Amino acid sequence: MANLSKKTKNKNERKTIRELGRMLPIGLKASEQFKFKPKDGSFKFKDWGFKEEEEIAKLKQDESSSGRFATRVLDLMLEELGGLKWSEMDETRLLVLNQACLSDMMYMYIHLRIDSMGHEFAFSHLTCPFCGHDHEEYVVDLRDLDVDCSPKDDPVDSTIDYKLLKPFSWEHNSKAGKVEEKIESLKIRRSPWQVMEEITGETAQNEGLTKRVIIKGSLQGYNDTEGYVDDEKIIGRLQKADYERIDRVIARHNAGPTISVSDKCESCGKKWAQQINWSYDYFLASSSLPSV
Ligand SMILES: [Zn+2]
Repeated sequence: MANLSKKTKNKNERKTIRELGRMLPIGLKASEQFKFKPKDGSFKFKDWGFKEEEEIAKLKQDESSSGRFATRVLDLMLEELGGLKWSEMDETRLLVLNQACLSDMMYMYIHLRIDSMGHEFAFSHLTCPFCGHDHEEYVVDLRDLDVDCSPKDDPVDSTIDYKLLKPFSWEHNSKAGKVEEKIESLKIRRSPWQVMEEITGETAQNEGLTKRVIIKGSLQGYNDTEGYVDDEKIIGRLQKADYERIDRVIARHNAGPTISVSDKCESCGKKWAQQINWSYDYFLASSSLPSV
């Protein structure tokens, strides 16, 4: 994400988790439908004890997608969201999370790890990709992770117009019958967490499918038409030149936490980067704690 922001105008403001605290990097949107009127972008978790541990273990057996499972974990652990008592929300609260910004959900999830287990995260083994040196137990302070926050004057649901390098004609049925339209640009919104919920085991294994799900969930119109676009045909007509660029536009617009660390190899001195696996069994397991 960093090298993209150097070349293009990036208005996102970069902070660390330590600086941002329990405040969402993008923010919440009020929803009539879900009777959700947040006062701000704050969040707060309950204490995590055996009662929660046992409930989470039960949820884990039901969920096949790690995104959906993360939704259930956050739902269970939230005490407040947007200054509102989470327990007083009705059953639409799962949809509030489903439609929240992907980056905000990810941010809360990382913060839950910090609040419940502490800020030290240990890679049990980290191998240098250049020389193969094994950095035994590499410990990261999660509070130092970078977070790109949306500019204050940018609404949560703002869209970006992406001009297609390879426009195409699209024939579809409307109320007036069959119409043919030339699709020249797409409107891109911040990805809702929903896309992560849709990425199940099989999709997660396939980078192409994952990209498709993310782009589909982030489309919010074409040309001058704004609104929900649920047509596989538009997605199916996109060329690599465009969807690879759209993928990057989405990543920048989404902003949010950087879930990777980089450092110099203590043996060869070259700079490596390593993703942090945020799946529950890795991120919230005792194996991620520094040895005692
Ligand atoms: Zn090395």
